[in-house]
Amino acid sequence: MAKKRRKIKEDLNLNNIVSQQFDEAAALMREPQGLLEKIKKCDNVFQVTFPVKIRNKIKHFIGWRAEHSHHRKPLKGGLRFRPLVTQDEVMALAALMTYKCALVDVPFGGSKGGVAVNPRELEVRHMEQLTRRFTVELLRKNFIGPGENVPAPDMGTGEREMAWIFDTYDTFHAGGIDNMACVTGKPVSQGGIRGRREATGRGVQFGIRQVFQHPNEIKRLGLDPGLAGKRVVVQGFGNVGYHAALFLSEQDDCRVIGVGEWDGAVFDPKGLNIAKLFRYKKRRGTILDFPGARSVPDPGTVLETECDILIPAALENQITLSNVDRIRTKIVAEAANGPVTPQAGKKLLKEGVLIVPDIYLNAGGVTVSYFEWSKNLAHIRYGRMGRRLEESRGEFLVNYLEEAGGRSISAPVREVFLKGAKEADLVNSGLEGTMSMAYEEIRTVCRRRRRVPDLRTAAYIVAIQKVATALRELGIFP
Ligand code: NAD
Repeated sequence: MAKKRRKIKEDLNLNNIVSQQFDEAAALMREPQGLLEKIKKCDNVFQVTFPVKIRNKIKHFIGWRAEHSHHRKPLKGGLRFRPLVTQDEVMALAALMTYKCALVDVPFGGSKGGVAVNPRELEVRHMEQLTRRFTVELLRKNFIGPGENVPAPDMGTGEREMAWIFDTYDTFHAGGIDNMACVTGKPVSQGGIRGRREATGRGVQFGIRQVFQHPNEIKRLGLDPGLAGKRVVVQGFGNVGYHAALFLSEQDDCRVIGVGEWDGAVFDPKGLNIAKLFRYKKRRGTILDFPGARSVPDPGTVLETECDILIPAALENQITLSNVDRIRTKIVAEAANGPVTPQAGKKLLKEGVLIVPDIYLNAGGVTVSYFEWSKNLAHIRYGRMGRRLEESRGEFLVNYLEEAGGRSISAPVREVFLKGAKEADLVNSGLEGTMSMAYEEIRTVCRRRRRVPDLRTAAYIVAIQKVATALRELGIFP
């Protein structure tokens, strides 16, 4: 039975929340008020109602594409299909995209889109009609294009929808040589890039690893240094949550002791087998009753499980004033956008909990989307030109060292020298470098500036500073 939880009144409008976070950072900066206002405000929002014929009935759907900032082009951001999506939510997420891109030096402005629909309730053919019609509506208003605005997957959308979007755009731009760059997150066989599907989860893993690069800061949280053995709890077992859980458990030896979904949660103090849980969910449509685990049919419990690292990877506004007193973790790693409200965040900060903010931690998706977009414009797979050359050089070096040293090099070392970088290796290396550089920038601001209270404010300061520099250089037209 789901427990009844007391709701405490709090502003949960994501647009107001992002505004408040912006204001808190801006107050610590010396930029002119007018410039800060320009950065904060959303440039345009396109709203459209469009029909889709479903079994001889005409149904109407409402959708949005918000363009937050044109200081760099194209604009970039996900497209979510979710029944309760609103214009405010899409505008807030577009703003987060601007700050996220600036933070990780991805040269795009921020955008976001949404259609109010429950993908579970429509047949695939109707989802395809809806996606294609929405794409045409975006096209009509110049809200999509390789140099204008480039959607990507988000909640309720994935590679399949991105392929439909590309094909629709391509149909209306016959012969357009750069058409593939009109959307990212496509299947690899349709111009996608290896590593994009798992990129956001991979970025979450790299971001958490980065936090653990500083043992003294980890000790201050009351944790032993090192990720191995850390108890992890994940809310949301979709694209981001699944991949983050998989990589942290398989590559960093974390114990994922709890996973939550919309219909409940599963727990195993010894650590869940994430790959098996994923296959189970795919087969059964639920994670509940996963063999060997304790199932609880209450989606709220997972957040309140005692752990070392709590990863909300589902929706916004999950840790609020209503449940913050029951949160028992040392680190909240925000894989989702906006999972912690500002007031709840302040309480956690007081309790000494470290919040790794969304605009940093889930930037892996847009980083690899940038690699995909560049690949589409270059019309060549990363690593194709240089891989064989690297391997020949490695071979030459191994032979030379063996001859000079008079003994053979061991198989694992030989393998390192002889392996040229493939596309997936380059993508992961680019992502790891990006996450590491961005974290150090944020951490430096947080440590050096006395009045900066947390990593989120520091992340906003770094991002706003970069957008402000770009806008100052561009000037105000005319
Ligand atoms: P997704 O649709 O693949 O997964 C979301 C999962 O959360 C689903 O499995 C869903 O059933 C589950 N869920 C829904 N309501 C829940 C609830 N009340 N409790 C627990 N689980 C619930 O979406 P995603 O792409 O993994 O996105 C998750 C979050 O990450 C979103 O906030 C999104 O904006 C953010 N994000 C995604 C990407 C990306 O590349 N996909 C990039 C950046 C940020």
